Amino acid sequence: MALDSLAVAAWLRDFATQVHDNADLLTDLDREIGDGDHGANMDRGMKAVAGLDPADFPSAADYLKKAGMTLVSTVGGASGPLYGTFFLRVGTAWANADDAASLGAALRAGLEGIIQRGKAQVGDKTLVDALTPALDAYDAHAGEGVEKALSAAAAAADEGRDATIPLIAHKGRASYLGERSVGHQDPGATSMAMLIEAASRNLS
Ligand code: ADP
Ligand code: MG
Repeated sequence: MALDSLAVAAWLRDFATQVHDNADLLTDLDREIGDGDHGANMDRGMKAVAGLDPADFPSAADYLKKAGMTLVSTVGGASGPLYGTFFLRVGTAWANADDAASLGAALRAGLEGIIQRGKAQVGDKTLVDALTPALDAYDAHAGEGVEKALSAAAAAADEGRDATIPLIAHKGRASYLGERSVGHQDPGATSMAMLIEAASRNLS
């Protein structure tokens, strides 16, 4: 298993491409229950991340941390600090990511950073609703290796994203709508599912 800078760069650049190609979808979803900038926010941030050269960093961990700082500094919305914190925390834990269990632990450190920063729980209709079931599925399949664990995670992230539709938003701008947020898919959970799908295509 090679979880080196090149694998991480392939993951982040794949995510940047997904975000770019689906920017209109992310923006439309955010227009329904937010302010219509999630596609532009994530596209701006991930374009900057994709422009980083992994060869400029001594390790995959340093590259991930720089990606996190880049998102914090280029994305104005709530999603910038949250995704930025995710990559900073994953990067900090990445040094030991050399098997399925330790990769899972690094990703979970990222989720914990998001929760610490945004205070969202599962069911609040945020990106946490895609990432939490993804990492639970990952852990359940970690014994079968990274590839199987990540593909289970990607399927669970997609389910978690879809499961945000009937929820009432309790965090972020969508929470201002109260019950009117019901019936709409959360934009952040949608981009988060893309991140896990990209991980499953590139990290193994
Ligand atoms: P903003 O809401 O500032 O316009 P974005 O539109 O880029 O930022 O991102 C909105 C997404 O951020 C939401 O769909 C939700 O998934 C996520 N989000 C917002 N607040 C929180 C929070 N406190 N915790 C976790 N995720 C959040
Ligand atoms: Mg927004």
